[in-house]
Amino acid sequence: MTIDKEPLVKLYTTEEESAYDMALQQFDEAADVLGLNKGIAEYLRRPQRELTVNFPVRMDSGDIRMFTGYRVQHNLSRGPAKGGIRYHPWVSLDEVKALAMWMTWKCAVTDIPYGGAKGGVTFDPKQMSLNELERLTRRYASEISVLIGPEKDIPAPDVNTNPQVMAWIMDTYSMHEGYSVPGVVTGKPLEIGGSLGRLDATGRGCMIVAGMEMARIGKNLEGATVAVQGLGNVGYHAARLLEAHGCRIVAITDSSGGCYSDSGSLKSLDIEKLKDWKSSGGALIEYPGVDFITNDQLLAMPCDILVLAALEGQITPKNAAAVRAGIIIEGANGPITPAADSILEDMGVQVVPDILANAGGVVASYFEWVQNLQHDFWEQQKVEQRLEKVMVKAFEQVVSISQDKKTTMRKAALLLGISRVVKAIEVRGIYP
Ligand code: NAD
Repeated sequence: MTIDKEPLVKLYTTEEESAYDMALQQFDEAADVLGLNKGIAEYLRRPQRELTVNFPVRMDSGDIRMFTGYRVQHNLSRGPAKGGIRYHPWVSLDEVKALAMWMTWKCAVTDIPYGGAKGGVTFDPKQMSLNELERLTRRYASEISVLIGPEKDIPAPDVNTNPQVMAWIMDTYSMHEGYSVPGVVTGKPLEIGGSLGRLDATGRGCMIVAGMEMARIGKNLEGATVAVQGLGNVGYHAARLLEAHGCRIVAITDSSGGCYSDSGSLKSLDIEKLKDWKSSGGALIEYPGVDFITNDQLLAMPCDILVLAALEGQITPKNAAAVRAGIIIEGANGPITPAADSILEDMGVQVVPDILANAGGVVASYFEWVQNLQHDFWEQQKVEQRLEKVMVKAFEQVVSISQDKKTTMRKAALLLGISRVVKAIEVRGIYP
Protein backbone atom coordinates (compact mmCIF):
# COMPACT_ATOMS: atom_id res chain seq x y z
CA MET A 1 0.00 0.00 0.00
CA THR A 2 1.08 3.51 -0.72
CA ILE A 3 -1.05 6.22 0.78
CA ASP A 4 -0.77 8.99 -1.82
CA LYS A 5 -1.00 12.62 -0.89
CA GLU A 6 -2.22 13.73 -4.30
CA PRO A 7 -5.90 14.28 -5.13
CA LEU A 8 -7.91 11.38 -6.51
CA VAL A 9 -8.79 11.53 -10.17
CA LYS A 10 -11.76 9.47 -11.18
CA LEU A 11 -10.65 7.27 -14.02
CA TYR A 12 -12.94 4.35 -13.57
CA THR A 13 -15.29 1.94 -15.25
CA THR A 14 -17.67 3.64 -17.63
CA GLU A 15 -21.14 4.19 -16.18
CA GLU A 16 -22.71 1.72 -18.58
CA GLU A 17 -20.15 -1.00 -17.78
CA SER A 18 -19.52 -1.64 -14.08
CA ALA A 19 -16.85 -4.04 -12.87
CA TYR A 20 -19.47 -6.70 -12.18
CA ASP A 21 -21.00 -6.23 -15.66
CA MET A 22 -17.52 -6.77 -17.05
CA ALA A 23 -16.96 -9.91 -14.97
CA LEU A 24 -20.36 -11.32 -16.01
CA GLN A 25 -19.80 -10.55 -19.68
CA GLN A 26 -16.43 -12.33 -19.60
CA PHE A 27 -17.96 -15.28 -17.76
CA ASP A 28 -20.97 -15.57 -20.11
CA GLU A 29 -18.72 -15.65 -23.18
CA ALA A 30 -16.51 -18.36 -21.67
CA ALA A 31 -19.52 -20.35 -20.40
CA ASP A 32 -20.89 -20.31 -23.97
CA VAL A 33 -17.66 -21.70 -25.42
CA LEU A 34 -17.53 -24.38 -22.70
CA GLY A 35 -21.19 -25.24 -23.32
CA LEU A 36 -21.81 -25.05 -19.57
CA ASN A 37 -24.93 -26.57 -18.09
CA LYS A 38 -27.41 -23.69 -17.63
CA GLY A 39 -27.91 -24.35 -13.92
CA ILE A 40 -24.17 -24.47 -13.22
CA ALA A 41 -23.69 -21.26 -15.20
CA GLU A 42 -26.39 -19.54 -13.11
CA TYR A 43 -24.71 -20.87 -9.95
CA LEU A 44 -21.35 -19.38 -10.99
CA ARG A 45 -22.80 -16.03 -12.11
CA ARG A 46 -23.72 -15.21 -8.50
CA PRO A 47 -21.51 -14.96 -5.43
CA GLN A 48 -22.21 -17.66 -2.84
CA ARG A 49 -22.18 -15.21 0.07
CA GLU A 50 -22.39 -11.39 0.26
CA LEU A 51 -21.95 -9.65 3.58
CA THR A 52 -22.54 -5.89 3.99
CA VAL A 53 -21.50 -4.37 7.30
CA ASN A 54 -22.33 -0.88 8.61
CA PHE A 55 -20.24 0.04 11.61
CA PRO A 56 -19.22 3.01 13.75
CA VAL A 57 -15.68 4.32 14.25
CA ARG A 58 -14.66 6.89 16.84
CA MET A 59 -12.62 9.57 15.07
CA ASP A 60 -9.72 11.45 16.72
CA SER A 61 -12.04 14.44 17.17
CA GLY A 62 -14.30 12.29 19.38
CA ASP A 63 -17.04 12.22 16.70
CA ILE A 64 -18.55 8.89 15.70
CA ARG A 65 -18.70 8.20 11.95
CA MET A 66 -20.49 5.35 10.19
CA PHE A 67 -18.73 3.26 7.52
CA THR A 68 -19.90 0.58 5.11
CA GLY A 69 -17.81 -2.45 4.23
CA TYR A 70 -18.24 -5.74 2.40
CA ARG A 71 -16.91 -9.28 2.28
CA VAL A 72 -18.03 -11.41 -0.64
CA GLN A 73 -17.25 -15.10 -1.17
CA HIS A 74 -17.85 -15.98 -4.78
CA ASN A 75 -17.24 -19.73 -4.81
CA LEU A 76 -15.78 -22.23 -2.34
CA SER A 77 -15.77 -25.42 -4.42
CA ARG A 78 -11.97 -25.66 -4.72
CA GLY A 79 -11.11 -24.67 -1.13
CA PRO A 80 -11.31 -21.86 1.42
CA ALA A 81 -12.10 -18.39 0.09
CA LYS A 82 -9.15 -16.12 -0.67
CA GLY A 83 -8.97 -12.48 -1.68
CA GLY A 84 -7.77 -9.04 -0.72
CA ILE A 85 -9.30 -6.16 1.17
CA ARG A 86 -9.53 -2.78 -0.53
CA TYR A 87 -9.88 0.65 1.10
CA HIS A 88 -11.05 3.17 -1.46
CA PRO A 89 -13.78 5.82 -1.83
CA TRP A 90 -15.24 3.97 -4.84
CA VAL A 91 -15.55 0.55 -3.21
CA SER A 92 -19.08 -0.79 -3.80
CA LEU A 93 -20.77 -4.16 -3.40
CA ASP A 94 -20.80 -4.43 -7.18
CA GLU A 95 -17.03 -3.91 -7.42
CA VAL A 96 -16.31 -6.38 -4.59
CA LYS A 97 -18.52 -9.01 -6.29
CA ALA A 98 -16.55 -8.64 -9.52
CA LEU A 99 -13.21 -8.84 -7.75
CA ALA A 100 -14.36 -11.94 -5.80
CA MET A 101 -15.40 -13.68 -9.03
CA TRP A 102 -12.04 -12.89 -10.66
CA MET A 103 -10.32 -14.35 -7.57
CA THR A 104 -12.17 -17.66 -8.10
CA TRP A 105 -10.88 -17.91 -11.68
CA LYS A 106 -7.37 -16.72 -10.72
CA CYS A 107 -6.92 -19.37 -8.02
CA ALA A 108 -8.15 -22.00 -10.47
CA VAL A 109 -5.87 -20.81 -13.32
CA THR A 110 -2.84 -21.21 -11.05
CA ASP A 111 -4.34 -24.41 -9.60
CA ILE A 112 -4.01 -23.41 -5.96
CA PRO A 113 -6.66 -24.89 -3.65
CA TYR A 114 -8.75 -21.81 -2.96
CA GLY A 115 -12.08 -20.31 -3.87
CA GLY A 116 -12.49 -16.59 -4.56
CA ALA A 117 -13.39 -13.76 -2.20
CA LYS A 118 -12.86 -10.04 -1.82
CA GLY A 119 -13.56 -7.35 0.74
CA GLY A 120 -13.54 -3.60 0.95
CA VAL A 121 -14.54 -0.53 2.90
CA THR A 122 -15.81 2.61 1.17
CA PHE A 123 -13.69 5.53 2.41
CA ASP A 124 -10.57 7.48 1.59
CA PRO A 125 -7.70 6.33 3.82
CA LYS A 126 -5.69 9.38 2.82
CA GLN A 127 -8.07 11.50 4.92
CA MET A 128 -7.51 9.43 8.10
CA SER A 129 -4.91 9.35 10.85
CA LEU A 130 -3.09 6.09 11.57
CA ASN A 131 -5.06 5.66 14.81
CA GLU A 132 -8.37 6.11 12.99
CA LEU A 133 -7.23 3.63 10.35
CA GLU A 134 -6.40 1.08 13.05
CA ARG A 135 -9.78 1.51 14.78
CA LEU A 136 -11.62 1.22 11.46
CA THR A 137 -9.65 -1.89 10.50
CA ARG A 138 -10.21 -3.62 13.82
CA ARG A 139 -13.95 -2.90 13.80
CA TYR A 140 -14.29 -4.02 10.17
CA ALA A 141 -12.34 -7.21 11.00
CA SER A 142 -14.70 -7.88 13.93
CA GLU A 143 -17.74 -7.34 11.70
CA ILE A 144 -16.54 -9.76 9.01
CA SER A 145 -15.20 -12.31 11.53
CA VAL A 146 -18.41 -14.29 10.98
CA LEU A 147 -16.97 -15.20 7.58
CA ILE A 148 -13.17 -15.14 7.85
CA GLY A 149 -10.88 -17.78 9.41
CA PRO A 150 -7.80 -19.79 8.42
CA GLU A 151 -9.92 -22.69 7.17
CA LYS A 152 -12.74 -20.52 5.79
CA ASP A 153 -11.71 -17.24 4.22
CA ILE A 154 -8.27 -15.66 4.27
CA PRO A 155 -7.95 -11.93 3.42
CA ALA A 156 -4.80 -10.26 2.03
CA PRO A 157 -3.71 -6.73 1.03
CA ASP A 158 -5.18 -4.91 -1.96
CA VAL A 159 -5.44 -1.23 -2.93
CA ASN A 160 -4.60 1.00 0.07
CA THR A 161 -4.11 -1.88 2.51
CA ASN A 162 -0.71 -3.26 3.52
CA PRO A 163 1.11 -5.61 5.95
CA GLN A 164 0.28 -3.30 8.88
CA VAL A 165 -3.44 -3.50 8.10
CA MET A 166 -3.11 -7.30 7.89
CA ALA A 167 -1.36 -7.31 11.30
CA TRP A 168 -4.32 -5.44 12.86
CA ILE A 169 -6.78 -7.90 11.32
CA MET A 170 -4.72 -10.89 12.50
CA ASP A 171 -4.48 -9.42 16.01
CA THR A 172 -8.21 -8.62 16.21
CA TYR A 173 -9.19 -12.11 15.06
CA SER A 174 -6.63 -13.68 17.44
CA MET A 175 -8.00 -11.65 20.38
CA HIS A 176 -11.48 -13.01 19.65
CA GLU A 177 -10.16 -16.59 19.52
CA GLY A 178 -7.92 -16.24 22.57
CA TYR A 179 -4.75 -17.42 20.79
CA SER A 180 -2.62 -16.31 17.84
CA VAL A 181 -4.01 -17.29 14.45
CA PRO A 182 -1.42 -16.20 11.84
CA GLY A 183 -3.13 -18.16 9.04
CA VAL A 184 -6.23 -15.92 9.08
CA VAL A 185 -4.58 -13.39 6.75
CA THR A 186 -1.65 -13.35 4.34
CA GLY A 187 0.62 -10.48 3.36
CA LYS A 188 1.45 -10.04 7.08
CA PRO A 189 4.67 -8.55 8.43
CA LEU A 190 7.46 -11.15 8.72
CA GLU A 191 7.51 -10.81 12.53
CA ILE A 192 4.06 -12.41 12.89
CA GLY A 193 4.24 -15.16 10.28
CA GLY A 194 4.48 -13.27 7.00
CA SER A 195 6.43 -14.91 4.20
CA LEU A 196 9.64 -13.81 2.59
CA GLY A 197 8.91 -13.03 -1.04
CA ARG A 198 5.23 -12.10 -0.54
CA LEU A 199 5.62 -8.33 -0.72
CA ASP A 200 6.93 -8.25 -4.29
CA ALA A 201 5.24 -11.46 -5.52
CA THR A 202 2.53 -9.80 -7.64
CA GLY A 203 5.09 -7.58 -9.38
CA ARG A 204 7.42 -10.58 -9.76
CA GLY A 205 4.61 -12.57 -11.39
CA CYS A 206 4.04 -9.65 -13.80
CA MET A 207 7.74 -9.63 -14.66
CA ILE A 208 7.76 -13.41 -15.25
CA VAL A 209 4.77 -13.38 -17.61
CA ALA A 210 6.07 -10.25 -19.39
CA GLY A 211 9.31 -12.12 -20.10
CA MET A 212 7.44 -15.20 -21.31
CA GLU A 213 5.10 -13.19 -23.52
CA MET A 214 8.01 -11.25 -25.05
CA ALA A 215 9.80 -14.54 -25.75
CA ARG A 216 6.62 -15.95 -27.29
CA ILE A 217 6.47 -13.09 -29.80
CA GLY A 218 10.19 -13.46 -30.49
CA LYS A 219 11.48 -10.51 -28.47
CA ASN A 220 13.77 -9.99 -25.48
CA LEU A 221 13.07 -8.29 -22.19
CA GLU A 222 16.57 -6.85 -22.38
CA GLY A 223 16.22 -3.38 -23.88
CA ALA A 224 12.42 -3.44 -24.01
CA THR A 225 10.65 -0.16 -23.24
CA VAL A 226 8.05 -0.23 -20.46
CA ALA A 227 5.33 2.19 -19.29
CA VAL A 228 3.69 1.54 -15.92
CA GLN A 229 0.37 2.86 -14.60
CA GLY A 230 0.41 2.89 -10.78
CA LEU A 231 3.38 3.17 -8.43
CA GLY A 232 1.89 1.13 -5.60
CA ASN A 233 2.75 -2.38 -4.47
CA VAL A 234 2.20 -3.99 -7.87
CA GLY A 235 3.46 -1.17 -10.11
CA TYR A 236 6.58 -0.45 -8.08
CA HIS A 237 7.78 -4.05 -7.84
CA ALA A 238 6.88 -4.83 -11.46
CA ALA A 239 8.81 -1.76 -12.64
CA ARG A 240 11.76 -2.49 -10.32
CA LEU A 241 12.04 -6.12 -11.42
CA LEU A 242 11.56 -5.36 -15.12
CA GLU A 243 14.30 -2.75 -14.87
CA ALA A 244 16.52 -5.31 -13.12
CA HIS A 245 15.95 -7.60 -16.13
CA GLY A 246 17.23 -4.99 -18.57
CA CYS A 247 14.03 -3.14 -19.47
CA ARG A 248 13.94 0.63 -19.81
CA ILE A 249 11.11 2.19 -17.80
CA VAL A 250 10.07 5.13 -19.98
CA ALA A 251 7.03 6.36 -18.01
CA ILE A 252 5.23 5.80 -14.73
CA THR A 253 2.14 7.41 -13.22
CA ASP A 254 -0.01 7.38 -10.12
CA SER A 255 -3.50 8.78 -9.58
CA SER A 256 -2.57 12.38 -10.46
CA GLY A 257 -0.25 11.69 -13.39
CA GLY A 258 3.45 11.00 -13.53
CA CYS A 259 6.64 11.39 -15.45
CA TYR A 260 8.51 10.07 -18.48
CA SER A 261 12.00 10.15 -19.80
CA ASP A 262 11.93 11.51 -23.33
CA SER A 263 12.35 9.00 -26.13
CA GLY A 264 15.74 10.43 -27.11
CA SER A 265 17.14 9.36 -23.77
CA LEU A 266 18.35 5.80 -23.45
CA LYS A 267 18.19 5.92 -19.67
CA SER A 268 15.48 4.26 -17.62
CA LEU A 269 13.57 6.29 -15.05
CA ASP A 270 15.13 5.64 -11.64
CA ILE A 271 12.30 3.72 -9.98
CA GLU A 272 13.95 3.60 -6.55
CA LYS A 273 14.44 7.37 -6.52
CA LEU A 274 10.86 7.95 -7.69
CA LYS A 275 9.55 5.64 -4.99
CA ASP A 276 11.63 7.43 -2.32
CA TRP A 277 10.38 10.78 -3.60
CA LYS A 278 6.79 9.58 -3.31
CA SER A 279 7.36 8.02 0.12
CA SER A 280 8.73 11.32 1.40
CA GLY A 281 5.50 13.05 0.35
CA GLY A 282 6.49 14.32 -3.13
CA ALA A 283 4.05 14.04 -6.05
CA LEU A 284 5.34 12.14 -9.09
CA ILE A 285 4.37 15.05 -11.32
CA GLU A 286 6.79 17.30 -9.42
CA TYR A 287 9.81 15.02 -9.65
CA PRO A 288 12.69 17.18 -10.90
CA GLY A 289 14.51 16.56 -14.18
CA VAL A 290 11.84 14.50 -15.97
CA ASP A 291 8.81 15.47 -18.02
CA PHE A 292 5.22 15.44 -16.81
CA ILE A 293 2.76 12.97 -18.30
CA THR A 294 -0.98 12.48 -17.76
CA ASN A 295 -2.56 9.06 -17.32
CA ASP A 296 -4.17 9.37 -20.77
CA GLN A 297 -0.76 10.07 -22.30
CA LEU A 298 0.75 7.12 -20.44
CA LEU A 299 -1.85 4.75 -21.83
CA ALA A 300 -1.06 6.01 -25.35
CA MET A 301 2.71 5.86 -24.90
CA PRO A 302 4.67 4.01 -27.63
CA CYS A 303 6.40 1.14 -25.78
CA ASP A 304 6.97 -2.60 -25.92
CA ILE A 305 5.20 -3.35 -22.63
CA LEU A 306 2.42 -1.44 -20.85
CA VAL A 307 1.88 -2.57 -17.26
CA LEU A 308 -1.52 -1.58 -15.86
CA ALA A 309 -1.18 -1.61 -12.07
CA ALA A 310 -3.80 0.82 -10.75
CA LEU A 311 -7.55 0.21 -10.89
CA GLU A 312 -10.19 -1.35 -13.12
CA GLY A 313 -11.75 0.25 -16.21
CA GLN A 314 -8.68 2.19 -17.37
CA ILE A 315 -8.77 1.17 -21.05
CA THR A 316 -12.23 1.57 -22.50
CA PRO A 317 -13.56 1.98 -26.07
CA LYS A 318 -12.86 5.71 -25.64
CA ASN A 319 -9.07 5.34 -25.41
CA ALA A 320 -8.29 1.80 -26.64
CA ALA A 321 -7.48 2.89 -30.21
CA ALA A 322 -4.79 5.22 -28.85
CA VAL A 323 -2.79 2.38 -27.27
CA ARG A 324 0.69 2.05 -28.82
CA ALA A 325 2.05 -0.78 -26.67
CA GLY A 326 2.93 -4.16 -28.17
CA ILE A 327 1.85 -6.10 -25.11
CA ILE A 328 -0.19 -5.21 -22.03
CA ILE A 329 0.35 -6.86 -18.66
CA GLU A 330 -2.71 -6.57 -16.42
CA GLY A 331 -1.13 -6.11 -12.99
CA ALA A 332 -4.44 -4.61 -11.84
CA ASN A 333 -7.74 -6.47 -11.81
CA GLY A 334 -10.11 -5.61 -14.65
CA PRO A 335 -8.19 -2.63 -16.12
CA ILE A 336 -9.52 -3.28 -19.66
CA THR A 337 -13.25 -3.38 -20.39
CA PRO A 338 -14.57 -6.19 -22.65
CA ALA A 339 -15.41 -3.71 -25.43
CA ALA A 340 -11.87 -2.31 -25.28
CA ASP A 341 -10.53 -5.87 -25.31
CA SER A 342 -12.07 -6.45 -28.74
CA ILE A 343 -10.53 -3.24 -30.09
CA LEU A 344 -7.09 -4.22 -28.77
CA GLU A 345 -7.48 -7.71 -30.25
CA ASP A 346 -8.23 -6.21 -33.68
CA MET A 347 -5.18 -3.96 -33.30
CA GLY A 348 -2.99 -7.00 -32.55
CA VAL A 349 -2.10 -5.88 -29.02
CA GLN A 350 -1.32 -8.94 -26.89
CA VAL A 351 -2.97 -8.76 -23.47
CA VAL A 352 -1.76 -11.00 -20.64
CA PRO A 353 -4.94 -11.03 -18.54
CA ASP A 354 -5.29 -10.18 -14.85
CA ILE A 355 -6.30 -13.66 -13.69
CA LEU A 356 -2.93 -14.87 -14.95
CA ALA A 357 -0.66 -11.80 -14.91
CA ASN A 358 -1.28 -10.66 -11.33
CA ALA A 359 -1.71 -14.13 -9.81
CA GLY A 360 1.79 -14.06 -8.27
CA GLY A 361 0.36 -12.35 -5.18
CA VAL A 362 -2.21 -15.00 -4.38
CA VAL A 363 0.25 -17.79 -5.16
CA ALA A 364 2.77 -16.39 -2.65
CA SER A 365 -0.13 -15.85 -0.23
CA TYR A 366 -0.88 -19.54 -0.56
CA PHE A 367 2.76 -20.31 0.30
CA GLU A 368 2.49 -18.02 3.35
CA TRP A 369 -0.69 -19.80 4.50
CA VAL A 370 0.93 -23.24 4.04
CA GLN A 371 3.90 -22.08 6.15
CA ASN A 372 1.52 -20.78 8.85
CA LEU A 373 -0.49 -24.00 8.97
CA GLN A 374 2.72 -26.04 9.21
CA HIS A 375 4.47 -23.59 11.60
CA ASP A 376 7.26 -23.45 9.06
CA PHE A 377 9.37 -20.66 7.56
CA TRP A 378 10.66 -20.94 3.99
CA GLU A 379 13.72 -19.23 2.58
CA GLN A 380 13.12 -16.49 0.03
CA GLN A 381 14.73 -18.53 -2.72
CA LYS A 382 12.25 -21.37 -2.17
CA VAL A 383 9.29 -18.96 -2.38
CA GLU A 384 10.63 -17.35 -5.56
CA GLN A 385 11.47 -20.66 -7.24
CA ARG A 386 8.07 -22.16 -6.47
CA LEU A 387 6.32 -18.97 -7.55
CA GLU A 388 8.14 -19.02 -10.88
CA LYS A 389 7.24 -22.68 -11.39
CA VAL A 390 3.53 -22.01 -10.83
CA MET A 391 3.50 -18.90 -13.03
CA VAL A 392 5.38 -20.62 -15.87
CA LYS A 393 3.04 -23.62 -15.81
CA ALA A 394 -0.10 -21.45 -15.74
CA PHE A 395 1.25 -19.27 -18.59
CA GLU A 396 2.08 -22.31 -20.72
CA GLN A 397 -1.32 -23.88 -20.11
CA VAL A 398 -3.12 -20.64 -21.02
CA VAL A 399 -1.05 -20.17 -24.19
CA SER A 400 -1.69 -23.77 -25.22
CA ILE A 401 -5.48 -23.29 -24.85
CA SER A 402 -5.36 -19.97 -26.69
CA GLN A 403 -3.54 -21.66 -29.59
CA ASP A 404 -5.86 -24.68 -29.66
CA LYS A 405 -9.00 -22.57 -29.55
CA LYS A 406 -7.53 -19.72 -31.63
CA THR A 407 -8.61 -17.23 -29.02
CA THR A 408 -7.15 -14.51 -26.81
CA MET A 409 -5.18 -15.26 -23.66
CA ARG A 410 -8.00 -13.75 -21.58
CA LYS A 411 -10.57 -16.13 -23.01
CA ALA A 412 -8.13 -19.04 -22.70
CA ALA A 413 -7.43 -18.20 -19.04
CA LEU A 414 -11.15 -17.96 -18.33
CA LEU A 415 -11.78 -21.29 -20.05
CA LEU A 416 -9.05 -22.91 -17.94
CA GLY A 417 -10.16 -21.34 -14.64
CA ILE A 418 -13.89 -21.86 -15.10
CA SER A 419 -13.53 -25.45 -16.29
CA ARG A 420 -11.43 -26.31 -13.20
CA VAL A 421 -14.10 -24.83 -10.91
CA VAL A 422 -16.84 -26.70 -12.78
CA LYS A 423 -14.92 -29.99 -12.40
CA ALA A 424 -14.72 -29.39 -8.63
CA ILE A 425 -18.47 -28.71 -8.48
CA GLU A 426 -19.22 -31.84 -10.51
CA VAL A 427 -17.06 -34.13 -8.42
CA ARG A 428 -18.44 -32.73 -5.13
CA GLY A 429 -22.03 -32.78 -6.35
CA ILE A 430 -24.82 -30.34 -5.52
CA TYR A 431 -25.71 -30.50 -1.82
CA PRO A 432 -27.94 -32.10 -0.55
P1 NAD B 1 -1.66 0.21 -4.06
O1 NAD B 1 -2.65 0.89 -3.21
O2 NAD B 1 -0.37 -0.24 -3.47
O3 NAD B 1 -1.29 1.12 -5.33
C1 NAD B 1 -2.23 1.59 -6.24
C2 NAD B 1 -1.51 2.60 -7.13
O4 NAD B 1 -2.39 2.99 -8.18
C3 NAD B 1 -1.11 3.90 -6.42
O5 NAD B 1 0.18 4.28 -6.87
C4 NAD B 1 -2.13 4.91 -6.90
O6 NAD B 1 -1.63 6.22 -6.94
C5 NAD B 1 -2.37 4.40 -8.29
N1 NAD B 1 -3.64 4.85 -8.86
C6 NAD B 1 -4.86 4.87 -8.29
N2 NAD B 1 -5.76 5.36 -9.16
C7 NAD B 1 -5.08 5.63 -10.30
C8 NAD B 1 -5.43 6.15 -11.55
N3 NAD B 1 -6.68 6.49 -11.81
N4 NAD B 1 -4.45 6.28 -12.49
C9 NAD B 1 -3.18 5.94 -12.22
N5 NAD B 1 -2.78 5.44 -11.05
C10 NAD B 1 -3.72 5.31 -10.10
O7 NAD B 1 -2.44 -1.03 -4.72
P2 NAD B 1 -1.83 -2.37 -5.32
O8 NAD B 1 -1.84 -3.39 -4.26
O9 NAD B 1 -0.58 -2.07 -6.07
O10 NAD B 1 -2.99 -2.78 -6.34
C11 NAD B 1 -3.06 -2.25 -7.68
C12 NAD B 1 -3.94 -3.17 -8.52
O11 NAD B 1 -3.38 -4.49 -8.51
C13 NAD B 1 -5.38 -3.34 -8.03
O12 NAD B 1 -6.20 -3.54 -9.16
C14 NAD B 1 -5.33 -4.63 -7.23
O13 NAD B 1 -6.58 -5.25 -7.12
C15 NAD B 1 -4.35 -5.42 -8.08
N6 NAD B 1 -3.70 -6.53 -7.39
C16 NAD B 1 -2.96 -6.32 -6.27
C17 NAD B 1 -2.32 -7.40 -5.67
C18 NAD B 1 -1.43 -7.23 -4.48
O14 NAD B 1 -0.77 -8.23 -4.10
N7 NAD B 1 -1.32 -6.08 -3.87
C19 NAD B 1 -2.48 -8.70 -6.20
C20 NAD B 1 -3.24 -8.86 -7.36
C21 NAD B 1 -3.84 -7.77 -7.94
